[in-house]
Amino acid sequence: MADIIYSYGGKPYLNITNQCPCACVFCIRGQAEGLGSAANLWHHADPSWEEIETALAAFDFSGAGEVVFCGYGEPFCALDHLRRAAVWLKEHFPALKLRVNTNGLGDLIYQRDTSKDLAGLVDTVSISLNAPNAALYQQICRCAYGEAAFGAMLLFARHCKEVYPNVIFSVVDVLSEETLSECRALASSMGIPLRVRRRA
Ligand code: SF4
Repeated sequence: MADIIYSYGGKPYLNITNQCPCACVFCIRGQAEGLGSAANLWHHADPSWEEIETALAAFDFSGAGEVVFCGYGEPFCALDHLRRAAVWLKEHFPALKLRVNTNGLGDLIYQRDTSKDLAGLVDTVSISLNAPNAALYQQICRCAYGEAAFGAMLLFARHCKEVYPNVIFSVVDVLSEETLSECRALASSMGIPLRVRRRA
């Protein structure tokens, strides 16, 4: 059975879905079955809320400063479970900080503005910028929504900035220095910090 919660870099991570509308060229899912403390992050079927709650209750969160929603899938694909898990964590461990790592495509997945769905629960929203323009974004992310995805992701990020204490863009260090500079300029123009993360 796949792990719903695993430890990676000293932090607990929640792996609540394997669904994702993208197929990013750098995605860790194509390279290994598991990550960190998890031998396997592929669910036979996405976990039910009861299974997620059982995993939350069984996990030792003592000493954890931050919990991250990020597994082998896009957390917003399981938005109801994401929200319920965030509520559960804030009720049981009010001091815990919560972060969601997302591709920022929740609005396209649900065809509505999803930026406020985790308001008051999540402290940090980290959004995968991945590229400085729609064409390159689509080459890298191979998104089911096509080139419309890039603009939707940017709009989601703009909305999130009004809602969450911390909003971050991320790119993976597979980009050329020139493309990275363009990403930095775009992020800066939106007033959102950019984190360059190493390919896992
Ligand atoms: S958005 Fe995340 S989970 Fe989905 S393919 Fe890209 S890297 Fe993988």
